[in-house]
Amino acid sequence: MKLAVLSREPDNYSSQRLREAAETRGHEVMIIDTLRCYMSIVAHRPSIHYKGEALEHVDAIIPRIGSSITFYGTAVVRQFEMMGTKSLNPSLAISRSRDKLRSMQMLARKGIGLPVTGFAHSPDEVPDLIQMVGGAPLVVKLLEGTQGIGVVLCETRKAAESVIEAFMGLNTNILVQEYIKEAGGADIRCFVIGDKVVASIKRQAAPGEFRSNLHRGGSASVIKISPEERRTAVRAAKVMGLDVAGVDILRSNHGPVVMEVNSSPGLEGIENGTGKDIASLIIQHLERALAEKPKRVEG
Ligand code: ADP
Repeated sequence: MKLAVLSREPDNYSSQRLREAAETRGHEVMIIDTLRCYMSIVAHRPSIHYKGEALEHVDAIIPRIGSSITFYGTAVVRQFEMMGTKSLNPSLAISRSRDKLRSMQMLARKGIGLPVTGFAHSPDEVPDLIQMVGGAPLVVKLLEGTQGIGVVLCETRKAAESVIEAFMGLNTNILVQEYIKEAGGADIRCFVIGDKVVASIKRQAAPGEFRSNLHRGGSASVIKISPEERRTAVRAAKVMGLDVAGVDILRSNHGPVVMEVNSSPGLEGIENGTGKDIASLIIQHLERALAEKPKRVEG
C-alpha cells in the first residue's frame, strides 16, 4: 500500500520507525509535513496538495498531530478521509481526545474510572469546588498543559485556594482533581492497538516529585498490568474512537483511573522500555483495517 505519515518532525524516532516498519513490510511510505498540506474543499473531487503537487492514491495515513497544530492537523486528516483514504485514527477521535474536559465527560459517561475531577469558571465557587473533589491535598492542572508543566500538587486547602484563584485570575482554564496519593508518583502508559494493550510501561517520578513525566526526571520500566487495567485501557481508547492510543492510568484505591488518552503516542519510550516492535504492529493493524475497508466505487 501507499502510506503517508503526517508529521512535522520527519526525523524523529516515531516517524523513522514507522517508515522503517512500513518499508520492511513492502509498502511505499512518505513522511509529509502536515502544515505544508493544503486543500480544496469541494464536493465532487476533494484534493490535497503538498509542496505544489497533488497527493494522489494514498491508501492510508498515519496522523502524528502535535497538540499545537490540532486545529489544522485534524482538518488535513478530515480531507484525506473525504478522499476515501483510511486514517489510522479518525479525525473526529483525534479532536475529541485533544479536549481534556470533553474526553473526561465521554469516559465518565461510559463508566470508566477517573480521578474525581472538577471544573469551574467563577472564582466565587472555589471553596465548594475544592469540597467537590474531596478537599486537599488535590491537584490543579492547566487544561492546555503538557509534559507535566502546569500540574500543581496543593497540600492544603489554603494552598489550593490560592493556586486556583491565581490561575483563574490569569484567565486560563484549569481542572481540579483528587490527588491519587496511593499511586506513589507512578503512572502506567498502556499502548493500545485495536482491542489489545500491546505494551505497557510504568513511569516512576523522581524522588520528591509526584509527576512521573520523563521530562520531569521520571524513569521508565516494564510492568505487568492486571486484566482490569487492560480492559480499562482498551475501553478508554474505544470510547474515544481511537484505533491506536496511549492510555495513561493511575493505580488508585478505587481501581485503575484514566488520566489521559493520547491519540499520537510516541514510540521511543515504549519500544525502548519493552523491546517490542510497536511500529510493525501499527503497520500490521493498518493492513488489516484496509483489507476490511469496503472498496470505493469509482466514477
Ligand atoms: P501532562 O499531560 O502535562 O503530562 P498529566 O495530567 O499527565 O499532565 O500529569 C502529569 C503527571 O502528574 C502524571 O503523569 C502523574 O504522574 C501525575 N499526576 C497527574 N494527575 C494526578 C493525580 N490526580 N493524582 C496523582 N498524580 C497525578
